[in-house]
Amino acid sequence: MNVRIKFLGATQTVTGSKYILDVDDYRIMVDCGLFQGLKELRVRNWQSFPVAASSIDVVLVTHAHIDHVGYLPRLCKDGFAGKIYCSEASADLIPMMLADSAKLQEEEAEWAARKGYSKHDKPQPLYTVQDAARVTPLLHPVAMDEPFALLPNVLFTLRDAGHLLGAAIIELELLGERMRKKITFSGDLGIQHDPLLYPPTPISNTDVLLIEATYGDRDRPEIDAKETFAQAVEEALDRGGCLIIPAFAVGRTQTLLHYLKELFLEKRLKPCPVYVDSPMAIKATRLYERHLDIYRHHDAPFSQHGFFEFPNLQFCSDQEESMRINGVKSGAIIISAGGMMSGGRILHHLFNRLPRPQDTVLIVGHQGEGTRGRDLLEGHDHIKIFGESVPVRCQVKAIDGMSAHADQSQLLDWAKQFTEPPKRTFIVHGEKASAQVFGQLLKEQLGWSTVVPEYLESFSLFEGI
Ligand SMILES: [Zn+2]
Repeated sequence: MNVRIKFLGATQTVTGSKYILDVDDYRIMVDCGLFQGLKELRVRNWQSFPVAASSIDVVLVTHAHIDHVGYLPRLCKDGFAGKIYCSEASADLIPMMLADSAKLQEEEAEWAARKGYSKHDKPQPLYTVQDAARVTPLLHPVAMDEPFALLPNVLFTLRDAGHLLGAAIIELELLGERMRKKITFSGDLGIQHDPLLYPPTPISNTDVLLIEATYGDRDRPEIDAKETFAQAVEEALDRGGCLIIPAFAVGRTQTLLHYLKELFLEKRLKPCPVYVDSPMAIKATRLYERHLDIYRHHDAPFSQHGFFEFPNLQFCSDQEESMRINGVKSGAIIISAGGMMSGGRILHHLFNRLPRPQDTVLIVGHQGEGTRGRDLLEGHDHIKIFGESVPVRCQVKAIDGMSAHADQSQLLDWAKQFTEPPKRTFIVHGEKASAQVFGQLLKEQLGWSTVVPEYLESFSLFEGI
């Protein structure tokens, strides 16, 4: 058996995770992510795919974030028709994530057409909502911790990665004629003390490891996220206005609801109305409730029904309810998507609230370069929304340290749990500096042999096993 790997993304960058593994003439793709962020990366989404999509036999997916699954509709459009294996929770999340991504692609194409900034006569989306829907029948959920045979001599097992609902580490076992080998894909690794999810599963041995290094070069400040959040809520409501929290619909919104529920139950916070104003966040919360066994506190006394529900919580699914919140002038918390304030219902809330000195916007997630969220974080006094320049007179606060990614120390701690060093370790899913620093750290502290691969680079992993 001969095995080769080719890196089609997440090389010296954090998006576009895609790896092609050739096991003799059987072709496995691991993750199928979209490139995001800088234009020089995004253009890769439009380039012809480096291998024929129809030559791929199966896709294995670590988790439902768009930088790991967002290229799937395009792959299918280009001729991939095999099975896509993922965890049960991922199979629930992926259709929703892809539909949302497709909607954004369609809106962008429409915007480009209207503004005439596209080189094409009629700008096309990378894929449509219809294209995204074609991925769903190909999804095959697989139970965690149970080996699954792709071929009699090629097996994989999913292990909880603690990063997002359903996120998995993939252990791929190759039963060669002469020896067994293992390749492990870390996917994105979660933190040690996530309020909802378990920490990433320790892996004891592997021949080849692909490890993420999003925070490979830094540690985050250690904060008590729940208490910091409680203080921010208190301060904001004491000002006599409302608190607006732009949050990602999947993951961050549920963490905030969990904190709020606990803080109200513990009487740490006075009861107040909480609005979740995002159809996607509401859908995601329902999906989260279908997978309670995944949580650390699934047996908590308050988890019986409506894991995330508490008195005064209101889900706003239609536009009318959403607009009605504009009339609420004080004492309420409004959680709305999207997290970087690039689109979604959060925009009309910001449009209304930014000019009000009593109100507070609390930023709880990473804000990418060039986004409204980043401008707000950097203290711009005007923000453009719906083509208008809106003055920022409200309070803008940020909590730094809430993240779904292991930081450098936690990545290193996870690596230390291997009882013997992997023969070869590829550092992926990190900016260049981050990947290099982390690779060096693994060499120096653990004596590992590490490589930071280049885009489209390929390596022979095993020959004649
Ligand atoms: Zn992720």
